[in-house]
Formats: sequence, structure tokens, C-alpha cells
Amino acid sequence: MNLSEQYPIHLSNSLSGKKEKFEPLVPGFVGMYVCGPTVYNYVHLGNTRTFLTFDTVSRYFRFLGYKVRYVRNITDVGHLESDADEGEDKIGKKARLEELEPMEIVKRYTEDFHNVMRIFNILPPSIEPSATGHIVEQINITKKLIDLGLAYETNGSVYFDVKKYNQSHHYGILSGRNIDELMESGRDLDSQDEKREKVDFALWKKASPAHIMRWPSPWGEGFPGWHIECTVMSTKYLGETFDIHGGGMDLKFPHHECEIAQATGANGKTPVRYWLHSNMLTVNGQKMSKSLGNSFLPSELFTGNHPMLERGYTPMTVRFFMLQSHYSSTLDFSNEALGAAEKGYKKLANSLKLIKSIEHPGNATPDKELNEALQTLVADCYKNMSDDFNTAKTLAVLFEMSSRINDMKSGNVSLNKIEPAVFESFKKAYIGFMEDVLGLQEETSSDDKLLDGTIRVLIELRKKARTDKNFALSDKIRDDLKAIGVQLKDGKDGEITYTIE
Ligand code: AMP
Ligand code: ZN
Repeated sequence: MNLSEQYPIHLSNSLSGKKEKFEPLVPGFVGMYVCGPTVYNYVHLGNTRTFLTFDTVSRYFRFLGYKVRYVRNITDVGHLESDADEGEDKIGKKARLEELEPMEIVKRYTEDFHNVMRIFNILPPSIEPSATGHIVEQINITKKLIDLGLAYETNGSVYFDVKKYNQSHHYGILSGRNIDELMESGRDLDSQDEKREKVDFALWKKASPAHIMRWPSPWGEGFPGWHIECTVMSTKYLGETFDIHGGGMDLKFPHHECEIAQATGANGKTPVRYWLHSNMLTVNGQKMSKSLGNSFLPSELFTGNHPMLERGYTPMTVRFFMLQSHYSSTLDFSNEALGAAEKGYKKLANSLKLIKSIEHPGNATPDKELNEALQTLVADCYKNMSDDFNTAKTLAVLFEMSSRINDMKSGNVSLNKIEPAVFESFKKAYIGFMEDVLGLQEETSSDDKLLDGTIRVLIELRKKARTDKNFALSDKIRDDLKAIGVQLKDGKDGEITYTIE
């Protein structure tokens, strides 16, 4: 029996509202799509929580032996300021404010995003498609929806006809929203509005003369709506029906509801078998968000340079802090919780170093009870992770394993009492669950990967300071890094490299 059969995964499917046994579409394979960032700003710690959740999910599937195709997109066009298709395009607006090309904004914040992911040991997805790279596909599906009578054009924009769709399908199947209530709520449409009904949403928007990001289409120059990109990119790389779709809880409505409607309408098939939604990182009970002004950036977290932070915390401490709660619960930020997480992480990391150095002598006079206890701990790691990716309970088991490791090292427990095969499986499990599943690495000051990531974050900040003409800050970053032996070098093409003395 292989691991995935021995420890079958059960996950909370937001579509059914139930915990269900995971049955892959194709045995041994998992197709997973997760909504990626809108790259118009630095990612904050809340965003990081969501990406960390799905990193852990994909890591665990792989650990059980599945072959995973993990697609996480980059939203680089179409995400308007308001989810009701109103306001400016977030990237276009930032480009206007910073007097840059939209693609300069996209590059800057995509790089920042990648750096932050690297620092937190969040592995890259298998495919990272971008919305602007799939304009043709978005136009094609929009045409198809018009042909099927599920979308209509008004004044160069195209909208999805929710009422029409709802005649043969169920709009609200995921979020539980009621279409009649949705048609009543919110701002009333007026003669200026292009939509037939308030619930309708944009598939394609006509570009005003001032709009920078624009593409030719059968309806004139414009740009795609936000929801359609995910439908196009998920089905292109994973098929018209695929296993798992994930994202933050705040995307359930309207984004994911609209994705279901578009894909079901266009392809006549339910697109996703299991929907997973991760809950929010909160600050004093309120969602961490850029617009509420209660967010902080990873770089602020490491330095402690933020009014809400008593001091700095390392990436692994933060990763541990996030893993201590179940992904479906909200997690409230606090200095106390981070302080406790730091101690917890250090304890587990210390045992990681210890177990790597312990070798079994080879022969044994086994203690049956002890061997069974160690085997139970190993099985419990799998059982907890297979139970809806319960990282909190898995960490609790790892703490027990950590105490056993300390006993082995100190001689409190003689290795002779442990069967060699049991010891090897215990050692493999502790290292595997720490490093491969939970992504908790040993963290030392000479950790090259961490150092590299941190310096890159500072380089990005320096680039931003220069663009903003804040030369005092950009010089300070350069000088302070130099003082600790990191020399920045400005290349001709604007790229900055570094050397460590
Ligand atoms: P965005 O770049 O705004 O599209 O967000 C990227 C991802 O971060 C989405 O999946 C959001 O659901 C998620 N997200 C935003 N704020 C938070 C938060 N406070 N806690 C957890 N996830 C969040
Ligand atoms: Zn999406």
C-alpha cells in the first residue's frame, strides 16, 4: 500500500461545505490552481499566509507521492479597484501615480513577490502564467460566451449575463449568495450603466482614451475583466475539470463564484472538484489589508521597523507562527504569539540539527513499548496532515518527537532499545515533516538563501527609493549594507548586484 492509500487525504471542500475524501481525477496526479497576487504593490504578511497555506498543501501531496501540477497566476491586468467592476485598474493606477509603464510596475512587484516567497521558503509553482500573456484566450472565451447567449456587448464592453446563466445553472453555488438578493442590494443602476443587471460582471472592458493597458478585440480596444483570466489559465493548463482550486477566503465571492459561472457556461462542465479557501491573517480581529493601513511588509517584520512590532522576527519564526493555526481559521497577529513561535521554532529546529547527527549503532535489544510509541508518532504526523492539512496538530506531534530526540541525544533513551528500522523511519519522518512538508529549515546567520533573499528585498526597496527620488533613503540602504560588508554595485541597465566582503 502506498502512502496516499495508507493515509488518504480528507479536505474541507468549500463547494459542498463538507470534509471529503480526496479522489484525484487521474490516480497519482493532482492539478491545483491558486489565485496569485495582483502585482501592483509589495506583498504583505496577509497575502503571504495564503500562499504559505497552498505551499504546504502542494508540499504534502508531493510528500505522499503524488505528481502535482501547481498553477499560480500573476494578475497583471484587469483587477479594478472595486470588485464591482468600478474604479481604475490597480496596475494602471499605480503606473500613472509613479509615472512608469504598467509593465515596469508589474516587473518590480513580481520580483518583490518572488523574493518574499523565497525568503519564506514558499516553493515556486509548476507554472506561473500571467493575465497579459493570455489575452487571446480571454477574448476567445468571451466570444464563445456571447455565442452561447451568456454574455452581451454594450458600448465596447462585454458582460456576463448572470440572470440568463442562472436559468439553467446555479449562480451562488459556492458562496451561498442568493441571486435575487444580489439583484436588490448595492447601488442602483442608472442610464450611464452598461450592465443589464447589477449582478452581471465584466468579461471585457472598453479602454477609455487615457487607459494605458489596451488590446485590440472584436469589440474595439480594451482589456479583460478580472475573473476571466483565472478561468482561462486554469483550464488551459489543468483542463476543463481539475482537482483543486484555492485562494483566500475573501476571493470566494465574487471572484470564484464568477469563475465557476464562466467555466460552466462556456464548457458545460463543473470546473473544479474541490475548492479550498484559506482564512485571513488579522490584526486586532480586522483583516490585514493595505487599504486599512494595518499591514506590514516582510522587510518590516525582519527589522522590527514598524510601530506595531516590538522587535524583528525571522522568516522561519513567522512560518512557524502561521503553521500553528489551521488554515481555515483566522489567525490574529500579535507580538506575544510571534515571541512564543520563536521559542517553539527554535526547539524544533534544534532537534532537527540533533537528529541529523544521530546514527543508530545497528544492533538492538528492542523495548516493544518504546518502538510502538515512536511508530505511533510517525503515523500521527501523516494522520494529522491527511486530516485537512492540520499543521497545528502536526506541530504538536513534532514537539513530542523533539523531546524523544533530546532523550536520544542525552542518553536518557538508549538507541539500543530502538529497532534500527524504527529509528530510521522516525528520523526520516521528523526531517521530512519539518523540511519537506512544513518547509521549516534550520535558520542560521550564515544561511545563504535567507541572506540572499533579504538583501534582494533591500535592493528592491532601494530601487523604489530612487524612483521616488528619496535619495536619503537609497543612500542609507547602500551605506548601512556596506557597513556590514555588503557592497552594492549599480549596473548600466539599472540592475543592482551585490558582493559580500
Ligand atoms: P491580491 O494580491 O490582493 O489579489 O491578494 C493575493 C492573495 O492574498 C489572495 O488570495 C487574497 O485572498 C490573499 N489575502 C489578502 N489579504 C489577506 C489576509 N489579510 N490574510 C490572508 N490572505 C490574504
Ligand atoms: Zn483568481
